[in-house]
Amino acid sequence: MTLFAASIKEAEPLLTELDAAIGDADHGVNMRRGMNAVAAKLDTLELADLSGQLRVISTTLMSSVGGASGPLYGAFFLQSSHATPHRTDLGLTDLTSAMEAGYRGVVQLGKAAVGDKTMVDTLAAVIGSLRSSCNRHEPLPDAVKACQKAARLAAEGTIPMVARKGRASYIGERSAGTQDPGATSAALLFETLAQAVSSTSAAAPLNSKTTRLLLL
Ligand code: ADP
Ligand code: MG
Repeated sequence: MTLFAASIKEAEPLLTELDAAIGDADHGVNMRRGMNAVAAKLDTLELADLSGQLRVISTTLMSSVGGASGPLYGAFFLQSSHATPHRTDLGLTDLTSAMEAGYRGVVQLGKAAVGDKTMVDTLAAVIGSLRSSCNRHEPLPDAVKACQKAARLAAEGTIPMVARKGRASYIGERSAGTQDPGATSAALLFETLAQAVSSTSAAAPLNSKTTRLLLL
């Protein structure tokens, strides 16, 4: 099974290539360094509650990633953590609320909107998909699978966009034709989530074991 740290490591050349085309070529290394730091940190802690784990992930990413993506992913995990106080497991509704809170954290910090060619495009698609799965009362594994697909399509959907936020916006029209690196790494996160959920028992809620599985 591909875990997030492993999947980021595997995707480092791709993320580097995408960021080299429209940014400064550091997104792959930023994400790998950040996830290595998270792995090392979580190894030293026995955290049973999800919100504690999410908080540690947030602070670790904020302190270990130099680029814009560090604080942005940091805000994502911090707000998700605040939305899941003292929880040890999450069902679909809780997961959706946590992802919505994370999304709002990213938007509040980065001020990007859908269509600006950033990770926000992927995150917005994920939330839309999770919310409609909630409304249809889908089982968690189906919902997560659907949101993984939505995330991948949204990341691919950034290819023709002209960046309006972040470093890629400095090159204007020339940013069109390349998939956004942050939208790509965000899609990998939900691909890994789908794999982590499908490897646990069918409709089990997400818990701190799953998050650990998911990340390391
Ligand atoms: P940097 O741009 O500082 O080199 P990274 O290369 O690690 O940082 O991350 C770049 C990614 O961060 C972009 O591909 C984009 O998805 C995301 N990003 C940049 N600025 C913003 C923003 N204001 N809001 C949301 N996401 C952003
Ligand atoms: Mg960069």
